[in-house]
Amino acid sequence: MDKQDILAWLREADPQRLNQLWLDADRIRRESVGEAVHLRGLIEISNYCCRQCAYCGIHVLNTDVPRYRMTREEIIESARMAAAFGYGTVVMQAGEDAGITAEWMAEIVRTIRYDIGLAVTLSLGERTEEEFRLWHEAGANRYLIRFETSDATLYRRIHPSLPGTVSDRFAILKKLQSLGYETGSGVMVGIPGQSYDTLADDLLWFVTLGLDMIGIGPWIPHPDTALARKPDQFPTAGTEQVPNTAEMLFKVLALARVLCPAANIPSTTAIATIAGKEGRGNGLMRGANIVMPNVTPLCYRQMYAIYPGKASSLETPEETNRIICEHIRSLGRTIGIGPGDSPSFRQRQTAIS
Ligand code: SAH
Repeated sequence: MDKQDILAWLREADPQRLNQLWLDADRIRRESVGEAVHLRGLIEISNYCCRQCAYCGIHVLNTDVPRYRMTREEIIESARMAAAFGYGTVVMQAGEDAGITAEWMAEIVRTIRYDIGLAVTLSLGERTEEEFRLWHEAGANRYLIRFETSDATLYRRIHPSLPGTVSDRFAILKKLQSLGYETGSGVMVGIPGQSYDTLADDLLWFVTLGLDMIGIGPWIPHPDTALARKPDQFPTAGTEQVPNTAEMLFKVLALARVLCPAANIPSTTAIATIAGKEGRGNGLMRGANIVMPNVTPLCYRQMYAIYPGKASSLETPEETNRIICEHIRSLGRTIGIGPGDSPSFRQRQTAIS
């Protein structure tokens, strides 16, 4: 599939043709990663953030959001709960929080990986190479950091660099791969200013980067962000503007599966948020093979408000677990056992050894 094919699919409106894309993605998913849906327990460990991202509700200037950082004990407790639910992995995600110190995090990673026995994924933003190395040595298996958009001008507009630095997530992804992490990235779909052409490039970047995990979600406007408040500063791409609809999201998800057959691709919470109850299942039937049930304690969930109306934000971890497991079984899929490394990563490891 070349760029012209990708563009044609992104512009496709015929329901029958789209149905063929969903079926192709589902078949490729089955042949490459199988029927099992792997569950990752998501722990949103802190909503402190030093950045001013124009899309994200927990940016530093938002004084309306109460801030929290989970204690070590709370995080370990949530990880134990994930293990008790049978999840093989925990994902610890946060804003870019200097209060998450390198050693504190390393100790938590060690405990979860070696005492509790789960695979560990981190998603803590742009940190130093020394921190990435320390956490990998402590046992972290995977790191998620989305490049958000491959249009450099748009990226700078929505993701301002910190003073004296240049935010380069492509360079960070390379570094993570060289350190031996299983590496995940992805984009938001429908950011004002995102054209079909850039979105096609984003998809090609997934291939070029050789990603093991690909996270895709619709941009959901948050009322306390620059993107929602100051639309005049964020011009749209006019007739070339990508809409942030569920259908567009599913097209990108399905194309990601076709282009990167062996990657782990989640049906994300953001999909469930805009596409309603069926959203998560549709994601799983159009290319996805991963779900990330939230195990963050209820008292913190609503404070991790990166976008409004987040699916599952009013459920306890037990309720989320039950609802997601029932949904997966109702689709005729099985629930994955073990860490669920991506086949692309395993293939690379075997080639190296
Ligand atoms: N601080 C970490 C984790 C951020 S939250 C980091 O920057 O990597 C994880 C992802 O949520 C982001 O990468 C972004 O793609 C997505 N996100 C943030 N705000 C969003 C919004 N308003 N709508 C949809 N997705 C959003």
